[in-house]
Amino acid sequence: MKVFDLHCDTIGECYKQQKRLRSNDMHLSLEQLSRYEEYCQVFAIWITDDKRGQTAVDYFDSVADLYYNSVEENADLISVYGSGKNTPVKGILACEGGSACGGTLEGLRHLYDRGVRLITLTWNANNEIGGGAFSEGGLTPFGVEFVKECERLGIVIDVSHLNRETFWDVAKITTKPFVASHSNADIVDNVYGHKRNLDEVQIKAIRDRGGLIGLNFCYDFLQQQEYPGLLSLGEQIRYLLALGCEDVIALGSDYDGCDMIEDLKCACSLENAYNSLLSQGFSKEILNKIFYENAQRFFEKI
Ligand SMILES: [Zn+2]
Repeated sequence: MKVFDLHCDTIGECYKQQKRLRSNDMHLSLEQLSRYEEYCQVFAIWITDDKRGQTAVDYFDSVADLYYNSVEENADLISVYGSGKNTPVKGILACEGGSACGGTLEGLRHLYDRGVRLITLTWNANNEIGGGAFSEGGLTPFGVEFVKECERLGIVIDVSHLNRETFWDVAKITTKPFVASHSNADIVDNVYGHKRNLDEVQIKAIRDRGGLIGLNFCYDFLQQQEYPGLLSLGEQIRYLLALGCEDVIALGSDYDGCDMIEDLKCACSLENAYNSLLSQGFSKEILNKIFYENAQRFFEKI
């Protein structure tokens, strides 16, 4: 079974808790991922909203050092995506919170040089670039320059965590596809009406641009009484398929960044999830797109 996951916070947790990427007691470890035929994982470095300026830059660099040391130490299991090495796990480095650039375009180019290929522009608060899900305001003048430079460099823009205003500013000024790496749909009469979830118009904008939406396994964004456990994941997929998102849906687990629903509590749960979705009536063709092919095609192209 092949998996492509657009978001986890594991490397930052390894840094904070002094755990090892290879083997640990967290949601995700290389040993768990290596049981799959292939596992492409976007590893995000999360910049908390209390870090700005040089503090954010230094924090990013420290965690990125840990990431590359972990890749080097575990070269039997993981390699950098696109390097052509035949390892079970392929890693893509991402940054969750554009503050890691320290508020400058030179800082952004530094992130690119360190291998960042996807940037979640904000976390939940405002930063130098724009407004997060729990704050007001759209893209700042610097944010406009930042987004344009991301497109020029070839860094994928990730709109997860943006508030609606910043989302639409991004949609207006970008020309390339953008993604919501770990966001669910705000569906069923607003039962899922969490500020981190996407509304129908946002979903269609991502679809029309050829982007991706990574399904988040977080309890708060997914679970509801009517559809417990994996049925809630199936409900998300059904809704997105009805909106014509067959080539848009991907996985964005949020492992080691959230409390998961019980049935998706670690990366080793994905085979069960796949089988449960099969029994809910989804075809292998659709599930293979969601679990791997859509994201793989997207990253191949860029
Ligand atoms: Zn997040």
